Amino acid sequence: MLRMSPERLDRFMARANAAYYGSRDPFADFTTAPEITQIFGEIFGLWCAVVWQAMGRPSPVVLAEAGPGRGTLMADALRAVRATAADFGNALAVHLIETSPRLRELQALAVPEATWHHALEHMPPRPLLLVANEFLDALPVRQFVRRGQTWSERYVAGGALIERPAEPPQPILDKAAVLEGPMFEISETAIAFTAGLARHLARHGGAAVFIDYGPAEPSAGDSLQAIREKQAANPFTDPGSADLTAHVDFPTLADTAKRAGAAVYGPVPQGIFLTRLGLLQRTDRLARGQKPARAMALITAARRLIEPGQMGRLFKVMGLCHPGLPMLPGFEE
Ligand code: SAH
Repeated sequence: MLRMSPERLDRFMARANAAYYGSRDPFADFTTAPEITQIFGEIFGLWCAVVWQAMGRPSPVVLAEAGPGRGTLMADALRAVRATAADFGNALAVHLIETSPRLRELQALAVPEATWHHALEHMPPRPLLLVANEFLDALPVRQFVRRGQTWSERYVAGGALIERPAEPPQPILDKAAVLEGPMFEISETAIAFTAGLARHLARHGGAAVFIDYGPAEPSAGDSLQAIREKQAANPFTDPGSADLTAHVDFPTLADTAKRAGAAVYGPVPQGIFLTRLGLLQRTDRLARGQKPARAMALITAARRLIEPGQMGRLFKVMGLCHPGLPMLPGFEE
């Protein structure tokens, strides 16, 4: 629905994405790593099993995912865990954080034993292992524009962007003090999610990984984009018809998590992380004994995730954990 009265960009984006994920099959518009190869979810399942060992094998433990899409990553993770880490499989309970009723139905087909929550705050107060792939990029952003000494904020009205004078929040002022450029973004929703997660990990134990795209260094600029049917679309004209995303601000989220009491590792490029965790070896093992066309498809899929010119460099992995845990796997220098 097009609104004529100005709506702050983050509120517009939240409304547009709620409509989008509530009504469309996002996977017609874009392809995510777990949909490219089963090995992606398997690796994160085994990563959780290894970290669970390092945590002292708590039982029960929560295995959670935020924004699970079709549930593919979690289904692949559970299969790998049950095949090779049965103790962890017996100790875990699966919890999914998902707001879209439509996607919850798909997730229930892939992961029937799951329990669903609208927000992290509703998760049980237990040790936690959480994975979030392409979740944070879907959370709403605010955009501020600097001209000389004055600031304005972007709103959407009648399908177009407008600006209104505004005072930016402190994290924007901090970035603007050291970075050039007129445009700065902030996702207060991503910051609140990360702070809540870090508090949970510091209090109840555990670890989490974010896999998403965005720069590893503090940055300025407008990264909002809309994707419809794998093409860039206008984000403002038809809310709910396209997936709206923005780059994840890893440096700000790392600071947030540390201040909330968690240890933080990375971000490291996805290609390096997956290579360290044995993506190529697993692909090789799986490809052996397959028909040539299937073996080739597995290898092409693995390359897509790790090659720098494909998803290997733009996508990054950041780890958060209880400060008493040893270095998380995949983040060793
Ligand atoms: N992780 C999946 C899907 C990514 S799409 C994959 O890699 O394929 C983003 C996911 O986050 C969708 O499941 C969407 O419904 C969910 N989502 C978006 N905003 C959310 C919010 N505020 N709270 C919980 N889930 C949200």
